[in-house]
Amino acid sequence: MPGSSATAPESSARNGFRPAVEVPVLPVEPLDTIRVVASTVTSPRITISAATDDEDEAAEELAEWLRSNGAERPFLVASRHGQRLLQAVTGATGAAAPGVHATQGWARWCSRSARRADTVVAIGGGRCLDAGKLVAVGAGIPFIAVPTQLSHDGVCSPVSVLPRTVGGVSESLEAVAPHVAFFSRPTLIRSPIASLRAGIGDLVANPLALRDWKLASDAGLERIDRAAWHLSAESFWLVEPLLEERFTSECVEPDLIGLLAHALATSGCAMRTVGTSRPASGAEHKISHAIDELFGPRAHHGAQVAFASLVSAALHGLDVEGVGRWLVNVGLPHHPHQLGLTNDDLVGVLLRAPNTRPGRFTILESVCLDRPEAEMLVRSLWSAG
Ligand SMILES: [Zn+2]
Repeated sequence: MPGSSATAPESSARNGFRPAVEVPVLPVEPLDTIRVVASTVTSPRITISAATDDEDEAAEELAEWLRSNGAERPFLVASRHGQRLLQAVTGATGAAAPGVHATQGWARWCSRSARRADTVVAIGGGRCLDAGKLVAVGAGIPFIAVPTQLSHDGVCSPVSVLPRTVGGVSESLEAVAPHVAFFSRPTLIRSPIASLRAGIGDLVANPLALRDWKLASDAGLERIDRAAWHLSAESFWLVEPLLEERFTSECVEPDLIGLLAHALATSGCAMRTVGTSRPASGAEHKISHAIDELFGPRAHHGAQVAFASLVSAALHGLDVEGVGRWLVNVGLPHHPHQLGLTNDDLVGVLLRAPNTRPGRFTILESVCLDRPEAEMLVRSLWSAG
């Protein structure tokens, strides 16, 4: 557990308790107005299966839903996790399985085959959906997402993270957001609980990312888009109650899947509104990217991001203990050792993090840590390490 002293959050409690990190409130608009604007202006077009238990039933639903959404001659990008769901899909002009090694070049190659299709439908995990987005961009046709995991908020975002063809380094690319997405509850309820925890963890970042966005705005570097801001906030508020309870396998039920799907889609929609990941990605994402670059992925993206939120919360002067309690409750990593990293490793990560996304101003660039400061910060967070 992190052990630093913490500053209390600055705004008032909601729902009878004071959360560790609250969404910063933009001036002028009262909160209730903000919520109405966020939920009516840009709500994501998602469908959650009526089927709650039978994946074959959900597959039939999906096939019908695809036809009704104009996908009569789809090109399918499907992982092995999506095979059962796609069994009832008809009219496919072609199919490809991205596997774990799909690159940008692989997606470009698939785009040529997809040009005869009317839509690209991706059915699978994050890599599969990211590949599908690039295939759709290359083919110049719409994209439909059918996630088989809820491990991050990229499902409805326009961002695709895929390795370069040569060198294997992953890049965040501006691609295309799905205009519709289908969430199969029987599929998602059977996904590993670690992926659901990571999905919640990715949204812990949102109030911190918004603080970073405000920093950039205050520095005159960027302009805040209110609709995107409030969609990002809304997605955090949806999962906020989950952070206060122990998240165990008993919590994984159809309603939870629906709620998490909505929250992740809403966060993706925030990104779609501005065309970048800015509303949901700040210093904590840079730290996670630096872990990937220096040591390779150590956990789900959302789990790494949630862990890195401890650092971001500390730099913002927020309630680090409270964020640590959230991570423990949800079952997310809260100590470098849980990611197989030492405190020294983490110092290297913090020094590397600002370079992972040049041009995105966050609390990391604001405080500009040198090595002694990074060492002191890591010691203050994990003194026992
Ligand atoms: Zn993320």
